[in-house]
Amino acid sequence: MNESSLGIYFHVPFCAKKCPYCDFYSVPFSKSLSSDYVDAVLRNVNHYGDNSFVDTIYFGGGTPSLLTVQQIEEIINAVRESFNVDKQAEITIEANPAALNYEKLTALYEAGINRLSLGVQSMMENELKFLGRIHSPEKVRNIIHEAKMAGFSNISCDLMIGLPNQTTKNIAHSIKCLSEMQVNHISSYILKIENNTPFFFNGVSEMLPSDDDVSDIYLFMCDELEKYGFMQYEISNFAHEGFKSRHNSRYWKCLDYIGIGPAAHSGYKGRRFAVAGDVMKFIGEPFQTEVDTDTNPFSFEEKCMLSLRLTDGIDVNKLGIHKDKIMSKLPKLIENGLIISDGKKIVLTKKGFLMSNSIIEYLIFE
Ligand code: SF4
Repeated sequence: MNESSLGIYFHVPFCAKKCPYCDFYSVPFSKSLSSDYVDAVLRNVNHYGDNSFVDTIYFGGGTPSLLTVQQIEEIINAVRESFNVDKQAEITIEANPAALNYEKLTALYEAGINRLSLGVQSMMENELKFLGRIHSPEKVRNIIHEAKMAGFSNISCDLMIGLPNQTTKNIAHSIKCLSEMQVNHISSYILKIENNTPFFFNGVSEMLPSDDDVSDIYLFMCDELEKYGFMQYEISNFAHEGFKSRHNSRYWKCLDYIGIGPAAHSGYKGRRFAVAGDVMKFIGEPFQTEVDTDTNPFSFEEKCMLSLRLTDGIDVNKLGIHKDKIMSKLPKLIENGLIISDGKKIVLTKKGFLMSNSIIEYLIFE
């Protein structure tokens, strides 16, 4: 990826049904609201457009696949008109398997989308029910098959771990199914109970596995994914050779991206800013209002924290004046199996990833 290139993220804030664990900003889908939303997106694309070289575009949400293909195509075309978009740009859409069919997949592919990120979460019927998802394992199988028929060769699936009563056998089953369907990328998240979600009020916290059990499940999942050729490249992300998410890699490498839409975040031209999670405000403004979210963006500490999320780790030469302090703390962490270092790089182990926040705190801030 070209280090001076730009990524564009669109937050599409609509969902067909709110999942009981989710606290992302989204509102119920309506045709007229989505039409006003797309108009506002187009105004903003035009507003930011400066012919910069764009090599990743990402539709996230929410459920972007609820927009019509014409709406998505209009947005992609607007980006192409306002920026210098790489012919090989990675263009991803997050999609709910329940909101797709073969016709839509074909049209999305023809509109320029070349990467699908499916909110699968599990290939176990009971886990999907618990998560309030509206698709079945069978639907996932059909959609992945149809996506391939439509031309998609770059497919990522989300997987959720740390569910109540989830066994390693369940995880192994989900991974085996996805691998058999030859998807290329898995993003895995540990279920967290967010404030003010139905799971928060329904006492799901008490049903969750202990921290030790979640650690065991995470380590098992990493090994299992590796067995099927999904190599870990970030705490939560695993890919076959050549299929790392180029757009998400921007976030960890502190490369520029503009976020457009309610609740979208940006890291752009040395600033970090966000847009209020309020679709009516977004629609009503000529251009989205940017609110700075960080007084010291792209600091050394932030860069270290983000680098340590990656299996490439931190280049020791980039530690500058902090090098001696940080290097002096390594032996204890290496001894405990949390870090490996060849003197040129510092990399967290899988066990280290599970404690990444406290390790980073210790290395950088203490
Ligand atoms: S998990 Fe995805 S589909 Fe479910 S409510 Fe959140 S954004 Fe919408």
